[in-house]
Amino acid sequence: MIKSATIQNDLLDVYAIREHFPILSREVKGKPLVYFDNAATSQKPQVVIDALTDYYTGYNANIHRGIHTLAEEATAAFEKTRDTAQQFINAASREQIIFTRGTTEGINLVAYTWGRQNIKAGDEIIISTMEHHSNIVPWQVLCEEKNAILKVIPINDDGELLMDEYEKLLSPKTKLVSIVHVSNSLGTVNPVKKIIEAAHKVGAVVLVDGAQSTVHLDIDVQKMDCDFFAFSAHKLYGPTGIGVLYGKKHLLESMPVFQGGGEMIKEVSFEKTTFNDLPYKFEAGTPNIADTIAFKTAMDFVNKIGKEKIRKHEHELLVYATDQLEQISGLRIIGKAKEKTSLVSFFIDKTHPQDIGILLDNRGIAVRTGHHCTQPLMHRFGIPGTIRASFAVYNTKEEIDQLVVGLQKAVKMLL
Ligand code: PMP
Repeated sequence: MIKSATIQNDLLDVYAIREHFPILSREVKGKPLVYFDNAATSQKPQVVIDALTDYYTGYNANIHRGIHTLAEEATAAFEKTRDTAQQFINAASREQIIFTRGTTEGINLVAYTWGRQNIKAGDEIIISTMEHHSNIVPWQVLCEEKNAILKVIPINDDGELLMDEYEKLLSPKTKLVSIVHVSNSLGTVNPVKKIIEAAHKVGAVVLVDGAQSTVHLDIDVQKMDCDFFAFSAHKLYGPTGIGVLYGKKHLLESMPVFQGGGEMIKEVSFEKTTFNDLPYKFEAGTPNIADTIAFKTAMDFVNKIGKEKIRKHEHELLVYATDQLEQISGLRIIGKAKEKTSLVSFFIDKTHPQDIGILLDNRGIAVRTGHHCTQPLMHRFGIPGTIRASFAVYNTKEEIDQLVVGLQKAVKMLL
């Protein structure tokens, strides 16, 4: 558990926080690691790593059907994660928390079940220019299959949605709006509440892709009034391979099943199968037990520090990094939305992001370069990709200084 000394009043002791992350003390290419690829996946605190080991060394067993002690302990720990996730996003009930492999699987689950049941020829689905491929491809596949139409909300040069254009796209033909809460390439925080309100007025259902927002923002799915919300544990200091799909109860209840198998049934005969109640109806097969258990520890970790303190710290890093990076000649920040999380995407004239990324890696600095699974967005800005530095609770201003020096040296070498 985090020592209380690490969280004093409003101040976050980032150096004490760093001690919880063993990987931060390693070196890369002989230099201390500077990890700025948090939007891809965050590092894991020791408590999360311990939760995985504790399960495998102490009570490894399959869950739900066993009556022996290990099975009961594993089941209890697994189900506790559901309660914590319910509180984490303020869902009305635990039955509305469906465990998935992550955001991608959550979106696909909705596309394959709700989508195939409800989308007909001529119906329209709205997404935006800044969607991750995970929130484009499932809808394209569905539209092709059903002869439905995919519409795209345009953005301005700062990387903000054009809300007037969005409203113009809405009509009684709109059946679904699927929108990213926070852009992984721009950091833009989208006005999801307004988007949802407008969609509901025409009777459309709204899915919010919370992959990037859940670690930074306070999520209240009831206040937001979204119909579906998907997120991944690995972007919020938890393990890979586990995430959540939240859905409104009446929708989840009326949806057909996703995968068939054990766990998701009540009774099976060769003539007929009856399906299990929520949430198990959507959780076929042996789940990812260890990672689900450790996911709770990750949410507890975030709660213990407090999202507000994390946000404050990350915002300081964002402001500092933006100021420093703008000093570099030829550097253009892509994504200047008024509402942004702690992520800076940029492009340096006459250089390729990949070359910069390699030179930074030689200095132990991990950034992401490329299209970030948002190729249509890169196309919108007329660039092959960006260099993206995304900040987490454990990053420091000194690390940003190192990034700036690394970039200056890289530019000198390449130009
Ligand atoms: N949407 C967004 C905005 C993302 O950033 C990501 C991960 N890069 C995803 C969806 C997909 O998440 P996952 O790979 O964890 O399924």
